[in-house]
Amino acid sequence: MNVTIVAGDGIGPEVIPAARAVIEIIRPETSFFDVELGYGRWQRTGEAITDEDISLLATADSILFGAVTTPPAPDYRSVIVRIRKELDLYANVRPVWGAGFDLIVVRENTEGLYSGIEKIEADSACTLRCITRKGSERIARYACTLAKKRRVLTIGHKANVLKSDVFFRGICISEAERAGVQVRECYIDALCLDVLLRPETYDVIVTTNMFGDILSDVTAYLVGGLGLLPSGNIGTDHALFEPVHGSAPDIAGRNIANPIAAMRSAAMLLHHAGEPAACGLLEQAVGMTLDAGTKTRDLGGTAGTQEFAGAVLSRLRALVSRQ
Ligand code: NAD
Repeated sequence: MNVTIVAGDGIGPEVIPAARAVIEIIRPETSFFDVELGYGRWQRTGEAITDEDISLLATADSILFGAVTTPPAPDYRSVIVRIRKELDLYANVRPVWGAGFDLIVVRENTEGLYSGIEKIEADSACTLRCITRKGSERIARYACTLAKKRRVLTIGHKANVLKSDVFFRGICISEAERAGVQVRECYIDALCLDVLLRPETYDVIVTTNMFGDILSDVTAYLVGGLGLLPSGNIGTDHALFEPVHGSAPDIAGRNIANPIAAMRSAAMLLHHAGEPAACGLLEQAVGMTLDAGTKTRDLGGTAGTQEFAGAVLSRLRALVSRQ
């Protein structure tokens, strides 16, 4: 297997070595290829990502991605949004689990408000939210496939206000009926509160691009923060795995970021690559480390990124050698 690594900006280069090590321990024959992308490169060279980089990423079996900084500047286009679009990574899969709950946010990843169809004028700014039948059908099918193996599909939308969500909702309901999946629905604003109050009632949640982006950060509250949540960006031909969090410039360079989200993203990559035991093994190693009282600052501990990652990795090595 060959894995392209994009460490990116901010805490990306601090958490990605731990994620890479997870892959090295579980699949030692993996070959890695590093690509520099992001805001740091833009500052150095004037280009955050090029067409050649996209072609290079397309040759990888999988991509392990840290995070990139996207400044709120009119002339800067998000690197990760471009990669998702150009590699057609249409399903953003964000699992969240904890005591008594286990849910997955399935976010449409290539259209909606993040399509980049925008018009900025002197006295107005317009962003078009375009939702297509093709995009909605395939994300609904993806979510239904997951829900069929689990319990229930919830559609998160705002169809009381947005006609584009009347369209999205209708397609999701049709796909759920076709797949024989139990379906329910919730307005996205109410859902953002209800998922915190009654997380155990949720299973697979399908929603559009920006709503899914926001909802998955909301669900981080259930588990203690953004440092814990992994994600997969899945397409028909390509897959990219990354923590849900961003480049966290407020804590970058201080060796205090929690590497669990990045390590779990690596385990998701391995699971996708045919190592079904990877997630379970990593969870065991993480659980043993936390139970022993080794925690990063965001979880109330004092361990640095490297110390915590080292403790998890040595337990993971021991677990793998016992198999
Ligand atoms: P963020 O996720 O980077 O940080 C939000 C908060 O969570 C911060 O207080 C941060 O310190 C904390 N946090 C995040 N990851 C953590 C970790 N591993 N351990 C401990 N604490 C952690 O979101 P933001 O501040 O809104 O965005 C910062 C930059 O990241 C922006 O430029 C944004 O565009 C970018 N971003 C990139 C991606 C991506 O690359 N996929 C995703 C989200 C945001």
